[in-house]
Amino acid sequence: MVKKLKYPVLAYHKVTKQWEISFTMLYPRTFERQMRYLATNGYVGKSLREYLADPKDHYFVLTFDDAYESVYKNAYPLLKELNFNATVFVLTNYLGKNNTWDFTPGNIFSRHMDAKQLKILHKEGWEIASHGENHRAMTGMHPDLVMHELKHSKEVITSLIDDEVETFCFPFGVYNAGVVATAKAIGYKNLVGFTEASRYGVISRSAVYRVVDGRFSVIRKIRQCPFDLFFEGIKEGIFHSFSLLSRLKQRFRKSK
Ligand SMILES: [Zn+2]
Repeated sequence: MVKKLKYPVLAYHKVTKQWEISFTMLYPRTFERQMRYLATNGYVGKSLREYLADPKDHYFVLTFDDAYESVYKNAYPLLKELNFNATVFVLTNYLGKNNTWDFTPGNIFSRHMDAKQLKILHKEGWEIASHGENHRAMTGMHPDLVMHELKHSKEVITSLIDDEVETFCFPFGVYNAGVVATAKAIGYKNLVGFTEASRYGVISRSAVYRVVDGRFSVIRKIRQCPFDLFFEGIKEGIFHSFSLLSRLKQRFRKSK
């Protein structure tokens, strides 16, 4: 149950003032408190690619799932000031569009970054990586579709930033031996999941949630003391199960 992550990787989603019923959004001021606290303690945020090329004790990896525009607007200026970089996981069928793929109570939608914003981040040194095309769980998909999601999203981002796309993040953090093998065959060097996921060489991450996580728990996630990890593990198990709602919505839609 208490499992140490191989690398200190944090997973964020939205950084926004727009309130919604969700554990994955953070208010900009909450995010700022966390980042400034880490900076004050000597930590430096890096993209996954940078970190793997040169892992240092005071480095940690910052990742943002789904590449929301709120991250560009509310996180990027602060991270630039602190000299932190990050990795964003892009959904190529949703560039500049609302997150209609997600379970969104009250129909409060969030926009994804567009091509221009991603290009700017790439120029600033961020890693632009793939999260597939449609944010579908790949474990129940036809192998041809899995291949298409992995390959086509990689091609779209490559042509957008004119750089190699080395990392893929599995939607909902779910995968199996088959999808991992396909992703590797296509040329992804790094594969990313969530905490519970650490098989087949997939890199695990600690998700940061609203309400339950503050600057102290974020630093605990990075430092990974066994005592803290125990509670972090339980928390994540509970909160991550909420993503089932999104998967159910997608299943319901498909069957209609
Ligand atoms: Zn996602």
